[in-house]
Amino acid sequence: MQKSTHILIVGGGTAGWLSAAFLAKTLLTSDNNSIKISLIESPEIGIIGVGEGSFPSIRGTLAAIGISEARFIRECNATFKQGIQFCDWVHTPTEPASTTKNHYFHPFSQPSQRAGSPELLPYWLHGLAGKDRAFADAVTMQKYLADCGRAPKRSSDKDFLGPMNYAYHFDAARFATLLAEHARSLGVHHLLGNVDAVELAESGAIASIHSKEHGKLNADLYIDCTGFRARLIGEALGSSFHSVSDTLFVDRALAIQVPYPQADSPIPSYTISTAQEAGWIWDIGLQQRRGIGYVYSSRHSDAAQAEQVLRRYVGRSMDHLQARSLQLELGYRPIQWIHNCVAIGLSGGFLEPLESSGIGLIETAAYLVSYLFPYNGEFAPVAKTFNHLMSQRYERIVDFIKLHYCLSQRTDTAFWRDNTAAESIPASLRDKLNMWQGRPPSRLDFITDLEMYPPSSWQYVLYGMEFATQLPTNLIRKDELAAAQEAFQNIATMREFAAKDLPDHRQLIDFYCAQA
Ligand code: FAD
Repeated sequence: MQKSTHILIVGGGTAGWLSAAFLAKTLLTSDNNSIKISLIESPEIGIIGVGEGSFPSIRGTLAAIGISEARFIRECNATFKQGIQFCDWVHTPTEPASTTKNHYFHPFSQPSQRAGSPELLPYWLHGLAGKDRAFADAVTMQKYLADCGRAPKRSSDKDFLGPMNYAYHFDAARFATLLAEHARSLGVHHLLGNVDAVELAESGAIASIHSKEHGKLNADLYIDCTGFRARLIGEALGSSFHSVSDTLFVDRALAIQVPYPQADSPIPSYTISTAQEAGWIWDIGLQQRRGIGYVYSSRHSDAAQAEQVLRRYVGRSMDHLQARSLQLELGYRPIQWIHNCVAIGLSGGFLEPLESSGIGLIETAAYLVSYLFPYNGEFAPVAKTFNHLMSQRYERIVDFIKLHYCLSQRTDTAFWRDNTAAESIPASLRDKLNMWQGRPPSRLDFITDLEMYPPSSWQYVLYGMEFATQLPTNLIRKDELAAAQEAFQNIATMREFAAKDLPDHRQLIDFYCAQA
């Protein structure tokens, strides 16, 4: 018989409410009331409130929990995200960042591959697409369409579907509010209270938690979503934190919200990430404002220098706006599930905002808790599987993020020079780069279930960063040359039609916002 289980989530940020909604949707059914889900959040401690960029997996999550695309866009001030434009990451800027030379694009759409036609990467490396055509530009229409200000889908396309792959930019505080409302409608009990004590049983498991407002609270499974505080998994259970600061150097963020010059200013449908002397700046266009932040290394810049860099980017006319400062500790807990407590969100780990892994990791963790759920009360084997899958995923994300830094040819500051030092590059990444000098990355280099980023993301960043692969001659087949050439030509032709077919980005946002 199924054991009755009370799941108690502590924390009401994106991690807490996304987990609550996902678990409620997947575990609570009208004919099974053996599972109860509650969420307690502090009325005093706010949520982190940053985290405005997402990964395409978010569409599947929103669909799974039952929030429509129009509601999400309307209520979260959301816009579409087709990828990331990286400026000044490869070379030291000598000219304004608007020149195409110092840009590359990481699109979310996979390289185009029609049935029966060859994989295009070897042929691009062979020079068949044209000497100056960047990889991302040659193998998919997405960069061109995003540059033209087009949205990734039409208003007639179904929810969460479109010709181009996409994610969103959104207001993090509004997202938490929407998720909270939705989770409550799915049957999650909501409590306001500050957890001030955690009582442990002899076994080391959590026996109860305590708050002044509600006294003692008992549950079978506790989900720690208390953010960087890690009140349960860290403070109470002492799960150790594995710092990755020797590999990823940024440890501070300075964030600012900037209004558009006009209500109808165009909104880029991609994050702009511009490398700076000691880190990089994110620039995210929401409906009514931009979210901008400088993520930097305090070992390579002091706070005053960082503020100058951010204000130079934002422009003097915005000198009156306040910037918010945040301290970051990059790393993760290799053990995120101990006995009857599992960490989701920042309490489990954080690997900097580049490539938006934070919310993606929350989605994965909530998915795993739901699908590995210990219905029979046997937590230990589930914990073991969860810890293995999550720590492997974190390790691979560290490699992927470091890839952006360690291939840079910038030598202008200590930050960039230190980032290419061999000892700062994990051995697992060095091995991959060694292999890829002699052949391009293959699907077999990646174990899909452990990766957040698909092989194409690695390829876009690798070749965007001007990585050199010595192409083995056997990868170019004479009988496929014509088909590959035709495919490159086809992409160049079809994108003109697609640019006419797809709506302007802001127009599509306005369409969704007008829906009741
Ligand atoms: P929080 O938002 O901090 O929520 C913690 C919750 O716990 C709050 O409700 C608080 O009240 C509650 N709480 C704490 N202590 C107690 C207690 N004792 N009792 C009761 N309740 C308690 N991710 C992305 O995917 N994309 C991005 O672009 C991105 N950018 C980022 C930029 C920066 C600078 C930072 C720092 C993070 C970024 N992230 C990003 C990560 C993302 O913000 C987080 O993963 C996400 O917001 C989840 O946060 P959380 O819910 O774990 O924590």
